[in-house]
Parts: sequence; structure tokens; C-alpha cells
Amino acid sequence: MIDFAIVGAGISGLSTAWFLRQQGFSVCVVEAADRVGGTIRSFREEGFLIEGGPNSTLENTDALGELIRGVGLAGDLQAANPEANRRYILKQGGLVQMPGNALEFLRTPLFSVRGKLRLLAEPFIGRAPAEESIADFVRRRLGQEFLDWAIDPFISGVYAGDPEQLSVRFATRKIHGLEAQYRSLFVGALVRLVGGGRSGPAPSGRMISFTSGMQAFPQAVARSLGDAVRVGEGVAALKYEGEGWDLMLTGGAGSIAARWVVLALPAYRAADLLKPISAPLAEALNAIQYPPVASVALGFERHQVGHPLDGFGFLIPGREGKKTLGTLFSSTLFPGRAPQDHVLLTSFIGGARNPRVAEMDEAELVAQVLEEIRPILGIQGDPMLVRVQLWRHAIPQYRLGYGELLERIRRLLGAQEGLYARTNWLDGISLSDCVRNGREFARAMSQAGPPAAE
Ligand SMILES: Cc1cc2nc3c(=O)[nH]c(=O)nc-3n(C[C@H](O)[C@H](O)[C@H](O)COP(=O)(O)OP(=O)(O)OC[C@H]3O[C@@H](n4cnc5c(N)ncnc54)[C@H](O)[C@@H]3O)c2cc1C
Repeated sequence: MIDFAIVGAGISGLSTAWFLRQQGFSVCVVEAADRVGGTIRSFREEGFLIEGGPNSTLENTDALGELIRGVGLAGDLQAANPEANRRYILKQGGLVQMPGNALEFLRTPLFSVRGKLRLLAEPFIGRAPAEESIADFVRRRLGQEFLDWAIDPFISGVYAGDPEQLSVRFATRKIHGLEAQYRSLFVGALVRLVGGGRSGPAPSGRMISFTSGMQAFPQAVARSLGDAVRVGEGVAALKYEGEGWDLMLTGGAGSIAARWVVLALPAYRAADLLKPISAPLAEALNAIQYPPVASVALGFERHQVGHPLDGFGFLIPGREGKKTLGTLFSSTLFPGRAPQDHVLLTSFIGGARNPRVAEMDEAELVAQVLEEIRPILGIQGDPMLVRVQLWRHAIPQYRLGYGELLERIRRLLGAQEGLYARTNWLDGISLSDCVRNGREFARAMSQAGPPAAE
């Protein structure tokens, strides 16, 4: 019997398995699809390197570096072009540069004088008595303008979510943490800036990818795990057998016996497996919402796009009334994404405020994105390359009440002997969160035995 069976070979499952093995446990990763990586998916087409899922991640935990080095991928690492620090926001149909320092903030047309003055009141505003939505939190502390033109598009960019629905405590932990620890976002940011809020040097937080795309990362982790990773064999059912678990595989591929099981699956998939074991647990997992998002990659000859594409890309606030959430200037962000004299743009459409994308066909999605971004970027003619990736269940939404929901899930899961979860619906959605959480889990298992409830 192996120690751990990990269900799902997305980055959560793979990194959990890798760190568990580092701690000396025997592992097996079972993946239903015929490839590893889950949401991470890269394509090479006509000289373009396209991302269907995540385009980059922030190197803000040393667990990420440890894993990248450990699987021999450090030489393929790409840091984002420094130009990516320039980000644009769409306002009244035109792109406005997001201010990067105090002087730019004073000069930016993104906020009115009144909106800017409103920020000065922030250090004097107290804490809210109860859990708040991101929108309520930002309105209360920073004012409506800051919500509309800074936070709302940022939340679209990260969660494809609605700030009126998401929990500030769970979806934006760091921002909420500043209020909790320092009573003021500005004071907190200032204290951290001068180093008083850190116990040691912080990881650089640079934005990274890999020369052959993000998919190289899960592939390298899987390679390093060797034949412990089994693709094309989903888990159809789980059964506790006294000493451990039996995992029945799909398509009559037999079963795996493991002492402990880690579910590294989207919540609705975990619910399917857990329904026969605990209907209340399955019900709680099914309460986590995943709105659809489509990623639309468009390749052009350079002369077809009027904008200099001198930055990360642009985000579109909800108030602009568009369906597109934003567009990355992918060929500016990382080298080698488009052939010479060509550019690659990656737009996202859908999310919590526009779930209808799930019913649109590819041609409709492309037409909608093109109609909206053409005037913004001064695009002439048709793209020479189009690649659409629709995620029907894209990103788990940490909505208001997420704390209670997670408590319920943790309690019900903890009642199942030797059953754990490590995935993006717990403790952060970014790739670096998933890797950090995998390492923490492995360390906890090694130091103190299995955590009592997870
Ligand atoms: C469009 C998009 C853009 C994003 N952009 C970024 C970004 O720029 N930066 C960033 O850091 N993050 C980004 N994210 C978030 C990040 O990609 C995800 O949070 C992360 O990849 C999730 O990894 P995971 O392993 O938890 O889940 P998943 O990637 O969903 O993996 C779960 C795996 O489980 C498998 N599975 C399902 N059922 C079974 C079964 N019964 N048996 C066996 N296997 C099963 C699935 O096939 C899948 O491979 C983005 C997400 C999306 C959708």
C-alpha cells in the first residue's frame, strides 16, 4: 500500500506529490485527462506560443523556486519584460495608464480631484464589524472611484469575479490583512515598505513564465515524479477499507490502495466523488461557484495594431459596459510569443458578471472580443491566428460567507479518516499559492503526522 494517492494532476496535485516525496512518502498521482496540468495549457501554432489558462505567476513564495529548481526547470525560467510594470485601464473608451507612484497618482486622469482627496481619509477609518464584500470594503475605506477604476478591474483580472459578491477576507487576504494588522491600508503598506512588517527578506514577487510556456512547469514536475503519475485514469469512486483507501479507477483500470488520499480537484469534481461517502460534504462543495471564462488569443502582423503595446495589457472596469474583461499584450510580456514583426494579444471574456459566454460558440466569442478591442487598440483587418479556450468552470469564487463554508467543508472532510484536500478552492487561487500550499501540507504531514482536519 502506498502512502499517498493524489487525485488530480493539476499544479496543486503535482506539487503536493513532489513535496510529499521530498519528505520521504511514497506517492501516486491519478489524472483523468490524457495530459497533466489541469488549467495550465500552452499551445504552439504558426510560430505563436499561446496560453489557454494562466499566462504567468508571481514568484512570491520560495516554495515556487524550490520546486522549479528541484525539477530542473530553472534554466527555462523567463522573467516578464520590465515594460510589464506599465498597466492600462479602460476609461470612457480610452486607455489610461495605472499610476505607479505618488506623482503619477496626483496627475492621473483615472480619478477626480475629489476621488484623490477621498483617499486621504483612509487612515482614519475604523474596521468593519462583520465580514464584508470587496466592494463594501473598498467603498468604505477608499471611496467609490477607487472601487470603480482600480479594484473592480483588478478583481476581474484575477478572479473574473464580481467585487460585490466576493469576500474581502478570503479573496484579497493581503489587503484585508493590512486593515486587520495596521488598521489602515496606507499605514500598513508604508510599514511594510520600510521593512518593519517583515520578519525577513520578502521574495521578489517578479512575474515569471517559461520559454516553452506555462505548461512546461507541470510537465517537468510530472517528469520528475516519473511513473508515479498516471494519466488517462480518473478516479471513479473512493472507499475506506479500515487501514486505508481503495481508489477505483475509470474504464476498468483497476484500483489503487493508499493509506491517505489527497483530493486535488475542482470542488464540483470532489463533490461527485464524495457524494456516496458524505452527502452534506458534497452539497457544501457544490456551493462553490465557478463562472465560465474564455481566453481568446489573437495574432496579428505588427502593423495591424496601432497601439504601441508597451505594457502588461489593459483591464476593463465593469462600468465600461463591455463583455471583455481585459487583454494581455502577450508578445510584450514575454519574449518568443510571436514570430518576428507579429504580435500576440490574449483577451479574457466572461466571468461572474457575464456567464453567457458558456453558451457562445467560438466565432461569436472572437467577434465579440474583436468588436470591443478593435477601437481601443486601433486594430486594422483580421487576425492571422485565432485560438479560443473556453473554461466552463474557470476559477472558484471566494464569495461572502466563504469562511463559514470552508469551516463546514473542513469539519466534514476531517470526519473522514485519512482524506485531505489541497487545491485552489483552499487558501489561494494563484499557481504560487497552490505550490506553497502543497509544500506546507507535505511539511505538516512529515512533522506532526496527518493534520487533524483539513
Ligand atoms: C483562464 C484562467 C487564467 C488564469 N490565470 C492565472 C494566472 O495568470 N496566474 C496564476 O497564478 N493563476 C492563474 N489562474 C489560476 C490557476 O491556473 C489555477 O488556480 C490553478 O492552475 C489550479 O490548479 P489545481 O491543480 O488546483 O486545479 P486544476 O488545474 O483544475 O487541476 C485539477 C485536475 O484534476 C483532474 N481531475 C478531475 N476529476 C478527476 C478525477 N475524478 N480523477 C482524476 N483526476 C481528475 C482534472 O482533469 C485536472 O487536471 C488562471 C485560471 C484560469 C482558468
